[in-house]
Amino acid sequence: MGKEVIKINISKEDDHVFHRNLNLEYPIIDRAEGVYLYESSGKKFIDGCSGAVAANLGHGVTQITDAMNQQAKKAAFVHSLRFETEVLYKLSKEIIDLAPKNFSKVFYTCSGSEANESAIKLVHQYHKDRGNEFKRLIVGRWQSYHGNTLGTLSIGGDLKRRTSFSALLYEHPHINSPITDNEDMSLTNYIDELESLIKNYGAENIGAIICEPIVGSQQGAMVPPYEYFKRIKDICKKNDLLLIIDEVMTGFGRTGKNFAIEYFDVIPDIITFGKGVTGGYAPLGGIIVHNDIVKAILENSNGIFKHGFTYSGHPVLVATGLAAINYYKSNDILYNCNIQSEYLLKGLNQIYDKYKMIKSINGKGLLIGLEFVPNRDHDKDFKASEKVSERLNQISMENGLVLYPGSGAKKGKLGQHIIIAPPLTVNNTEIDEILEILDKSLLKLQKEINYN
Ligand code: PMP
Repeated sequence: MGKEVIKINISKEDDHVFHRNLNLEYPIIDRAEGVYLYESSGKKFIDGCSGAVAANLGHGVTQITDAMNQQAKKAAFVHSLRFETEVLYKLSKEIIDLAPKNFSKVFYTCSGSEANESAIKLVHQYHKDRGNEFKRLIVGRWQSYHGNTLGTLSIGGDLKRRTSFSALLYEHPHINSPITDNEDMSLTNYIDELESLIKNYGAENIGAIICEPIVGSQQGAMVPPYEYFKRIKDICKKNDLLLIIDEVMTGFGRTGKNFAIEYFDVIPDIITFGKGVTGGYAPLGGIIVHNDIVKAILENSNGIFKHGFTYSGHPVLVATGLAAINYYKSNDILYNCNIQSEYLLKGLNQIYDKYKMIKSINGKGLLIGLEFVPNRDHDKDFKASEKVSERLNQISMENGLVLYPGSGAKKGKLGQHIIIAPPLTVNNTEIDEILEILDKSLLKLQKEINYN
């Protein structure tokens, strides 16, 4: 946009980046502005998924980049084992203000995976220091993702990511999370599954259950029934389990509330976060801890959380988070998220009418999933090998739209979906553009796969 385009010529042989797929060539992004990414060749992409549902505030927000710069100049690094900084103090206060009531402390990491690892360790320490050292297992759910480290992969259910490393994973048990269109199972079945798991393993061996409030990458933003988390919480109370809510994808306004667990009127014990806290401007994550756990750490562990990273509370990262939260608040991003969500859903409903391949539209706020089947009038699923969501992603990338493809465990198979999650700053015109390219891409995909 009026700026000089710098052409970078990178040949495949010269590219020493260990890409996720060494056989692919990746477009080189030269600059980004608002909801757009620009390739060095000049090609433009509209960011329909905020990168990895992280760039919640769009690109090029100078209030944030200035704050990063200023903090880097003031004090780029101090070790949080010995020092606190003003930005660390202020960000923690802001996060506690946004969190549900009775949360009182925030511990920082550099990613969502590290946040969930930290939660696993806090749960273990909490129980052990209270004399319950065998409460070691964390109940995960098959339709969930909590990160790519060994601990978080073990509690998550990402079959594709788990398979190659299954020999290294810890044996944490799993249940299914509610699938909106699974006529075979009522809410009670899902709750019964948890109760019988606790009976089998023994409550004395289980420390916590971890759930995404609205499952992102593994379930395409399906929203569980309102009662679900209340019933999970009751079971937790009965069996002395902690409830960890993973808000790495959903937190900081993504679903139209500060935290998605607010939709269910349930207070968890630990909330984990990442992505949106800085709007993707810096790698920051963390855990928000309920006061009851803080009290237990003070009483039973001499106030010491036996855990930490070199970069926990890194001043530049937390200054970025602080500037991002100020931006969320001063621009009423939550309001924009909710009105743009309505607009997006209206357009998606029209697209739904055109394609039998779309089985359902799910989600809240600007975390919207489309679930795909060959034809919604027939009870059949795509085969995982057809990689339908990945193919849609490729076609839409060619057309200049970035989406977040996914596939999650569904009745023992992999369901296919994509997530549409543009920056929460998106406007109507940009949503129209997303819808137009999506429509065009679905038409091409439909022809290619030759269903309907
Ligand atoms: N939890 C959830 C719900 C996520 O969506 C993700 C990332 N997609 C993670 C954890 C892991 O976060 P990170 O990639 O920052 O480690």
